[in-house]
Amino acid sequence: MPFVGKDVNSGARINILHLKDPRKELLKGQVVCPFCEAVFAIRGQVEGKLTIHFMHTTDECASSYISHPESIEHLYFKEYIARNLQSELNEYSDAKVELEYPIESMKRIIDVAFIFPNGWIVAHEVQLSEISTQELAARTKDYRNEGIDVIWWLGKGADTASNRNWCYTNQGECYTIDFETLTQISNTPQ
Ligand SMILES: [Zn+2]
Repeated sequence: MPFVGKDVNSGARINILHLKDPRKELLKGQVVCPFCEAVFAIRGQVEGKLTIHFMHTTDECASSYISHPESIEHLYFKEYIARNLQSELNEYSDAKVELEYPIESMKRIIDVAFIFPNGWIVAHEVQLSEISTQELAARTKDYRNEGIDVIWWLGKGADTASNRNWCYTNQGECYTIDFETLTQISNTPQ
């Protein structure tokens, strides 16, 4: 369930979250998947509980990029990181934030990429479904081979003692997602 699509005519990236009213601003058929070129549909509401996003009309992306099924929670947290991290962390103030940023050479899509003016990339990956420490290590190595630093956000099934331990040991720090608390905060009237 992506936030980012491609304009079928101009080829420009379209982030649905940057639009005020996507159903008014986009024509039907105007936006396709950047990877498999299938026409995207729009799902959800701009204001409301369900986050607005694009979707494949078939269940999955047919491209060769490695994709994992994304829950609404995964989508929500990606957006949360993109929105908040740059304002919270001074070191990110010069970086460009890109949701769903593809790395062609490894056929992977970074959840949230911070791209620095000198070309450095820090990848923030949201991991909510179960994952082993071996898989964490393998994916981290894939990114490092491309010169990309990766930071894991562990939540739900992925937030286990062994995964936390792996992060502390190998990355020096561990980021976890308390999804219930976050949802409560975001649903609290301002
Ligand atoms: Zn696709």
